[in-house]
Amino acid sequence: MDSPFKYIYGPVYSWRIGRSLGIDPLSAVDKICNMNCVYCQLGLTTHLSHTRKEYVKSEDIIAEIKRVPLDAVDYLTFSGRGEPTLAKNLGQMIHLIKAQRLGRVAVITNSVLMHQKEVRLDLSQADFVLAKLDAFDQESFQSVNGKELNFEKMLGGIREFRQDFKGKFALQIMLIEDNLDDVCELAALARDLNPDEIQLNTPLRPCPVKPIERAEMDWAKKFFGDEKVVTVWDSQRQDYKPLDPEATIRRHGNYLKP
Ligand code: SF4
Repeated sequence: MDSPFKYIYGPVYSWRIGRSLGIDPLSAVDKICNMNCVYCQLGLTTHLSHTRKEYVKSEDIIAEIKRVPLDAVDYLTFSGRGEPTLAKNLGQMIHLIKAQRLGRVAVITNSVLMHQKEVRLDLSQADFVLAKLDAFDQESFQSVNGKELNFEKMLGGIREFRQDFKGKFALQIMLIEDNLDDVCELAALARDLNPDEIQLNTPLRPCPVKPIERAEMDWAKKFFGDEKVVTVWDSQRQDYKPLDPEATIRRHGNYLKP
């Protein structure tokens, strides 16, 4: 049976966000991303792109959102099969959601394009921005997130965004075997960026690398040393029935797992 929705998925319960209705502003068959993370649950990045463009008309996405009861949703979350800031009309979509009072907006970004002023402006309209930071220098960045990337450029973008952003700002750090030894440097960097929250994740859904164990996460958490830290291992799972389970698994992975 065809999905009744082309661009939205869930709602799911996300340990990072709460009750979240997902919006996929790219909505392509294959993942489109500007990273190639070793742990990506969507597999290798075959469509590597650094160019922003309009993938789906903003009005079409808004029309779909309006078909869903939103009372029990905490955030409308831009994420999906790839990097949401690659959608050139991201800012317009957030603006329309806010102007029509449809709900609070979250964006989960891999941070790569935050060095661009227009991307920072788009993100600044959101209520909650969750920015990826898995590495502390160029070498570790390339080994975890992709060969073509420039660490200082990305970090400068996060720093600049953080200084001006008025909403809630979280850093999301994926810990795997490859970067577990970097946790001291990562924690120092994360503290320096002064987020409202630090989310320590490890890939519990099926993907090419193994998650770190609970004891390793507890050890890692100590380096961050304050109450701002939440971890996927500590999160309480809540079952939530998505509108379309198949569309949700395609974007989000198995929503029955944390
Ligand atoms: S940024 Fe996200 S979608 Fe892109 S490769 Fe990394 S994990 Fe996959």
